[in-house]
Amino acid sequence: MCRTDLHVVDGELSDPKLPLVLGHEIVGRVRAVGARAASGSSAPTVGARVGVPWLGFTCGACEHCRAGRENLCDRARFTGYTIDGGYAERAVADARYVFPLDERGDAAELAPLLCAGLIGNRALRLCGDARRVGLYGFGAAAHVIAQVAAFQGREVYAFTRPGDREAQALARSLGAVWAGGSDERPAHALDGAILFAPIGALVPTALAAVRKAGVVCAGIHMSDIPSFPYALLWGERVVRSVANLTRADGEALLALAARIPVRTHVQRYALASANEALADLRHGRVCGAAVLVP
Ligand SMILES: [Zn+2]
Ligand SMILES: [Zn+2]
Repeated sequence: MCRTDLHVVDGELSDPKLPLVLGHEIVGRVRAVGARAASGSSAPTVGARVGVPWLGFTCGACEHCRAGRENLCDRARFTGYTIDGGYAERAVADARYVFPLDERGDAAELAPLLCAGLIGNRALRLCGDARRVGLYGFGAAAHVIAQVAAFQGREVYAFTRPGDREAQALARSLGAVWAGGSDERPAHALDGAILFAPIGALVPTALAAVRKAGVVCAGIHMSDIPSFPYALLWGERVVRSVANLTRADGEALLALAARIPVRTHVQRYALASANEALADLRHGRVCGAAVLVP
């Protein structure tokens, strides 16, 4: 499960397929291969374990696709949003956008890599060589990316909901050098920050915490950003978003996660408890990532 699922449920994203099966971090096994996929160069085999991510289709022809930015494709389609997704026992996916997974690791523990991990990693990459990285909102994505950042020799500063001691403890156990509430400021200025929390008011907060560097907004939706003094942006500070993923992002993160290795913390729910799980996600009652196990 991903916070994006809540944005879809709440109607904050404007263009869902309806009715819709949510879910864009699918780990499963190939049960059947369609005729056109079977004739492709990298046809999946029946029984193979695969991961199905958010990016479900791109046109291959628009200016973004041709420039290697398929994450920005004008005609892209997305799993669990404009294509039926993974809150299900079976799903259909375009084989060209499916990642092969080996047999290592529990399926539930791999699932969070497929969005939280790889969108998070794309956001981290956009922080450049930032050494001190702030992560605002310590949920599924941050708990994966903290491990990647620590592995890369960066210092992770984890900002949680004020008073969320459980998330702060998780952050420290995953290598964060500092963990506190989003209303706190660490002693050192940050070299970059990633906002995973969908709270626009955190943009000026994060800008105030970074030295002359950037703030990356990693969510698909955010509440309005309040006005702030220009001085917070001065010094060539940058605010930018991260949109979607490319297949190359997925391949890179999955290989990196196996090498580190990333350990995810998951809260498992039965498929029939999806609404309860969404409520837990909404109210901050999930430590790490929520996963539905059909
Ligand atoms: Zn395109
Ligand atoms: Zn997601």
